Amino acid sequence: MAKIQMKTPLVEMDGDEMTRVLWKMIKDTLILPYVDLKSEYYDLGLAHRNETNDQVTVDSANATKKYGVAVKCATITPNAARVEEYNLKEMWKSPNGTIRAMLDGTVFRAPILVEGINPYIPGWTKPITIARHAYGDVYKNTEMRVDAGCKAELVVTHPDGTETRELIHDFKTPGIIQGVHNIDKSIESFARACMNYALDQKQDLWFATKDTISKKYDHRFKDIFAEIYEKEYKEKFEAAGIEYFYTLIDDAVARTVRSNGGYIWACKNYDGDVMSDMVATAYGSLSMMTSVLVSPDGVYEYEAAHGTIQRHYYKYLKGEPTSSNPVATIFAWSGAFRKRGELDGIPELVDYAGKLEKATIGTIRDGIMSGDLAALCTIPGKQVVGTEEFMAAIGRHLDELMA
Ligand code: NAP
Ligand code: MG
Repeated sequence: MAKIQMKTPLVEMDGDEMTRVLWKMIKDTLILPYVDLKSEYYDLGLAHRNETNDQVTVDSANATKKYGVAVKCATITPNAARVEEYNLKEMWKSPNGTIRAMLDGTVFRAPILVEGINPYIPGWTKPITIARHAYGDVYKNTEMRVDAGCKAELVVTHPDGTETRELIHDFKTPGIIQGVHNIDKSIESFARACMNYALDQKQDLWFATKDTISKKYDHRFKDIFAEIYEKEYKEKFEAAGIEYFYTLIDDAVARTVRSNGGYIWACKNYDGDVMSDMVATAYGSLSMMTSVLVSPDGVYEYEAAHGTIQRHYYKYLKGEPTSSNPVATIFAWSGAFRKRGELDGIPELVDYAGKLEKATIGTIRDGIMSGDLAALCTIPGKQVVGTEEFMAAIGRHLDELMA
């Protein structure tokens, strides 16, 4: 059988530990037999990031801007222990943070649903995608402890030197204060990224803040979303038969629990941090969460939501059996191939992406799975297998679908 030909290269960002092992297995078993893979390869493994003084991360983000679609393996974000383990020159920054800042993107996280692997909330029959704003608020805060007898004020100094002041609190007894900010431009990018993604996925978009309490700060988010929707997206949403829906954050939480899923939930930075872990856990496993970074100018970077599965890697190095779940990493590749195929007009590549996902889900439906899924699974005769066996079973399934 002739391999599928590609036109534009995918930006391929290799990573660390067990996910690096999975990466190679996925390519060897599930991709290279079917696709004449055209990729521009960047090794974001920690050793190579250290050798290049992290230049490779910057280069990979620039390549993503140039070509438009990237697929990324999980990477180590160094801490003190990693500096020692890898003898690092510096505690390099999180590659995801660097790439996100360069692409000015919004991260969308969605669960992969498989019949028989049951979410903790039984009504959630369709995926809920969380879109998290990745700038500002409490993540760029300034905070202080305040002694008794102090008066705390918000002070804004204008370019001409004049000041606007607002009393925060007159402290009779000791307390705490916090200053947070956001920027209109960043909120606008966030709104456009969410609305573009909703159109791309043909799903409703929900957005929620606490504008009744935060009448200027949260209200600004609400207003910016509403203005951009009215001016730029209303007609497109109506034509696509989807809806933009704004409500208060507590109402959104209640509606979400009662819903069947199938929509995109845009969250402010902190809400997105909390809600994405809640949603991921309720759907079952981090190893079944996909993640895609979308920039306002339509650049896509696909990855798995989980980390490098460090504990499994140390077992693997010792030659002990592992049962790591490759599903989210496989879906990162299928997402990237589908997008590349759509952009370049290669229907065979889009079709292959669909079959890759079908083979993966089909294997689990047949009862073959990694250990993390077994606890949630009601498929009769389920069988927990090792990393290699799971991959091989998906490979056999894909072979049948591609024949
Ligand atoms: P992790 O890799 O997400 O794994 C935490 C635990 O979750 C694992 O020990 C495993 O549980 C389970 N797990 C996660 N993914 C799994 C999978 N695919 N298959 C089976 N089980 C899975 O988080 P971590 O071990 O705390 O972090 C390791 C490294 O990942 C860190 O250096 C961190 O910086 C990095 N990280 C990278 C990214 C990214 O690149 N996007 C994201 C998060 C973390 P059991 O051990 O109980 O089986
Ligand atoms: Mg978090």
